[in-house]
Amino acid sequence: MERQKGIDVLFNPRSIAVIGASATKGKLGNDVLRNLIESGFEGRIYPVNPRGGQILGQKVYRSISEIVNDVEVGIIVIPAKYVLDAVEECGKKGLKALVIITAGFKEIGHEGQEAEKKLGELAEKYEMVIQGPNCLGVINTSAPYNGSFSAGTPGKGKIAFASQSGALMTGILDWSLMEKIGFSKFVSLGNKAHLNEADFVEAFGRDPDSTFILLYIESVVDGRKFMEACRKVVPTKPIFVVKSGVSVAGARAASSHTGSLAGSDTAYDVAFKQCGVRRADDMASLFDVASVYDDMHLPSGNRVAIVTNAGGPGILTTDACEASGLEIAQLSSETIGFLKENLPPAASVYNPIDALGTAQPEDYELCIEAALRDENVDSVLVLLTPQAMTRETETAQILVESHKKYPNKPLIAVFMGGNSMVYPRIVLTDGGIPVFDFPERAVHALAELYHYTVNRDSLKEETIPTFKVDKKRTKEIIELVRKDNRRVLLGSETHAIAEAYGIPVARIRLATSSEEAKLLADELGYPVVLKIASPDIVHKSDIGGIHVGLETPEEVEAAFLQILDNVRTHMPNAMIYGVDVQEMAEKGKELIIGCSRDVQFGPLVMFGAGGIFVNYLKDISFRLAPMTRSDAASLIMETKMGTLLRGVRGEAPSDITAIEDTILRISQLVTDFEEIVELDINPAFAYEKGKGVSAVDVKITIGGQ
Ligand code: ADP
Ligand code: MG
Repeated sequence: MERQKGIDVLFNPRSIAVIGASATKGKLGNDVLRNLIESGFEGRIYPVNPRGGQILGQKVYRSISEIVNDVEVGIIVIPAKYVLDAVEECGKKGLKALVIITAGFKEIGHEGQEAEKKLGELAEKYEMVIQGPNCLGVINTSAPYNGSFSAGTPGKGKIAFASQSGALMTGILDWSLMEKIGFSKFVSLGNKAHLNEADFVEAFGRDPDSTFILLYIESVVDGRKFMEACRKVVPTKPIFVVKSGVSVAGARAASSHTGSLAGSDTAYDVAFKQCGVRRADDMASLFDVASVYDDMHLPSGNRVAIVTNAGGPGILTTDACEASGLEIAQLSSETIGFLKENLPPAASVYNPIDALGTAQPEDYELCIEAALRDENVDSVLVLLTPQAMTRETETAQILVESHKKYPNKPLIAVFMGGNSMVYPRIVLTDGGIPVFDFPERAVHALAELYHYTVNRDSLKEETIPTFKVDKKRTKEIIELVRKDNRRVLLGSETHAIAEAYGIPVARIRLATSSEEAKLLADELGYPVVLKIASPDIVHKSDIGGIHVGLETPEEVEAAFLQILDNVRTHMPNAMIYGVDVQEMAEKGKELIIGCSRDVQFGPLVMFGAGGIFVNYLKDISFRLAPMTRSDAASLIMETKMGTLLRGVRGEAPSDITAIEDTILRISQLVTDFEEIVELDINPAFAYEKGKGVSAVDVKITIGGQ
């Protein structure tokens, strides 16, 4: 909360010091001061420069301490080597928030990284918040104030935008002025030495002037905090994000850019999904969505009506709708009747409604309004191509008027064409109607807004289930493995841990002689399986390290010797602990359930089709642990295996609840024990409903101390 109070001051300061204000045009210290004055900031402005004098008609202070009055925000634009001292001075003076525009920190290497760490410490010491360093600044259009060196100030609007790239922001700002897209807040994150994306998401969430949140990020500082902040905000405000650094080359560009290490991209995808954030592929689609949302209410469903004056574009739009999860609305009989009565007989009165190439503004008006009135329709797309009799501008006017009459349903224009559409597009934009050149982009933007509503509604307040488990026993096993200087656990150890966490496994015991193996087989009951027990052998069956279906003591003895023989031939240097004797599990559907660890987001749990073809089928999906039961359920259902488990071709459905339980128990295990860096169950057999699951191969690797 302290940080949030700091951000409130950062967004709405009563007084600002520009530390490094400059009289020289073209210097950042001059741009910042000018922006501040020209943006209409009504509070006190204190330019600070050791040379003193006057800049842009303002008295200049030689140092921060020379200012007698209180100052709330400091914008720092001095060379990097002076920044720490200035921050210390600001802290002593009692400033609440700093914007460090100066570059030359983390991105230049070790020294810069150290300095940045100190910035974070100073922020805590003096209870300030710090934005940046290496950033463009901050803009709050409703204060109003522009505390950045941007060229121009964006228009007022409802979009809150935070970006890890300052340069990208300048491009977007310039473009937004042309496109008439307004912003509520415009924040450059910079190197995120103190304030980061999670803090700003939370702040945007609380900000009454912002209704829509857009982010451009290359990495997140704290994955968990970010998810928590988004989860809080998404129920009331959509969050759309572009996360770059996906490709290997992209990742490298990102690290040299702000010195941030991009995390594994799968984890990002999963994290966004789990907290209801929509990930956009590129900046263009991010702003397409913004332009629709800026003017329109959210669609209350996915049923779209299309009004057109040409067949081709109508079909294109239909295809695009279907591809992106939107439905072509079934018009009500009332609407169809009305259209039949009023349109020429050759027109198509079904959806897409084709008013023909001769369509006049009045024809458009009756089609659009009939669609907007229809209860089977959630949003309306209007397509126009310039044909001989088309009156583009007047048709544009019709859209503006119709929207005023029915403001609750999204109405989007696709005016295809060049010169003839320039003026109509202006009419639409000024009238608050989002307009596109081609149908696909319009459909995509609308679909994104619809999918947001689905996300929002599915983010239920659900608790993370916790099972009664034996943590102590697990800890002991891990300690023993550590004492033995191993990182890979033996089968008998992993199965013991699984049992401690209530994960159903086929029982397993370690035998060090064939005599012991026979005794254990008796104890477990025939038939049994023998498996080589060695931390050096990951794929046991590849080297003849497994014998299944052993029915008698004689077979056990022979298998024992054969396995040792095979291992000696194929892996003479492997450290052998003995041979595991395991009860034979009944065959079921083969599943893989695993877990790896992501630097930013923690345990990443995987589920999918198991067996030896895992790498070829790649029928897998991911969730971050800990997770809710719905997360586990959707994790299963996202895979093709999930479909098979429900029962296809007359097969009985599998015990999906037991699989969910297993996934949830594994989630709990890897959440409890950070030292587990990898866990891999392949296969676990899934049985019919009521008969549960059984894991037969559990592999666990622990990390160094
Ligand atoms: P690895 O993956 O190291 O080769 P596994 O323990 O997974 O070894 O065994 C290989 C295959 O043998 C499994 O995919 C499974 O089909 C079969 N198998 C292993 N253990 C059992 C068991 N206890 N009951 C039934 N089948 C088993
Ligand atoms: Mg296996």
